[in-house]
Amino acid sequence: MKVTQHIENAQGKPLFSFEILPPLKGQNIQSIFDSIDPLMEFNPPFIDVTYHREEYEYKELPSGLLEKKIVKKRPGTVGICAAIQNKYRVDAIPHILCGGFNREDTENLLIDLDFLDIDNVVALRGDALKNEIYFKAEKAGNQYASELVTQIANLNKGIYLDEDLQNSSSTNFCIGIAGYPEKHMEAPSVDSDVHFLKQKIKNGAQYIITQMFFDNKKFFDFVAKCRAAGITIPIIPGLKPIATKKQLNLIPHRFSVQLPDDLIMAVVKANDNDAVKQIGIEWCTEQSKELVAAGIPVLHYYSMGKAENIKAIAREVF
Ligand code: FAD
Repeated sequence: MKVTQHIENAQGKPLFSFEILPPLKGQNIQSIFDSIDPLMEFNPPFIDVTYHREEYEYKELPSGLLEKKIVKKRPGTVGICAAIQNKYRVDAIPHILCGGFNREDTENLLIDLDFLDIDNVVALRGDALKNEIYFKAEKAGNQYASELVTQIANLNKGIYLDEDLQNSSSTNFCIGIAGYPEKHMEAPSVDSDVHFLKQKIKNGAQYIITQMFFDNKKFFDFVAKCRAAGITIPIIPGLKPIATKKQLNLIPHRFSVQLPDDLIMAVVKANDNDAVKQIGIEWCTEQSKELVAAGIPVLHYYSMGKAENIKAIAREVF
């Protein structure tokens, strides 16, 4: 079932959902099930699975020359989605990227997903590779998520890349996209970011999932800005409990989001990582309760494969 239908069917009852990432290459599917099992009691209507594109590594050869090696550290998104739908009978949502794909690859991926009875996708651009400053699309690939949305929306109308295809069947994907309460790191302003967000919706996106935020005011202001700009589709907040001291530096750097001073100082003064985890759980629980009280239809947790803290929050909220 589509995410938008899940929201409609919930009739105001808040829904719990979460995101997982594929395990590192070499691990098995059981590690995924172990991270999902503890959260099933909260009846997630859907589970997102992230996509990780190939990166390059340089290996020194005996000659001293460097060999460029392609590595894919977290493969398996499509297989994991199929396994989730098969085992739990819950909608699995693969994230799909512009980066690393030309349009033909994307079309073939979408055909696989359609054949697997996957009804939802989240369409994303992807980040620049570690050794690049700017994001670079593949040759004949999509440059922005808005173009990827158009390609998916076209396939939903039976429009394939090969215009000569006869009697082609249409897909029926519900398309999610990313939104950034504190603006995307490359966007020159919030207004320009919202302008391009609108483009994705015009092209066919049906709901927004936000980047993580730690101050609900940022989310509420973002929703108000979107609504004022004429965006009417559901906006699902993305939430992440802080779990380690290192994340105080990592999260602002990696995701371009701010942490509130109270949260920072509480974590700084914590004696050990158990104490940090508890602070993260309590902070995220308060955020969640306020969002539910404000009538937000779905809360979406970035579990990063660690169910324990998300479970502690969900117990208090759902
Ligand atoms: P876009 O919507 O294309 O926007 C990218 C930037 O370009 C923005 O600054 C925007 O304002 C600007 N822009 C958009 N259109 C135009 C235009 N036509 N002209 C000029 N500027 C434009 N990454 C992964 O690799 N795998 C994942 O699974 C993944 N999941 C994510 C899930 C969520 C909910 C979120 C919030 C992010 C996720 N990301 C993931 C990260 C995401 O890929 C990056 O944030 C990426 O840098 C931007 O993706 P986007 O889809 O928002 O890009």
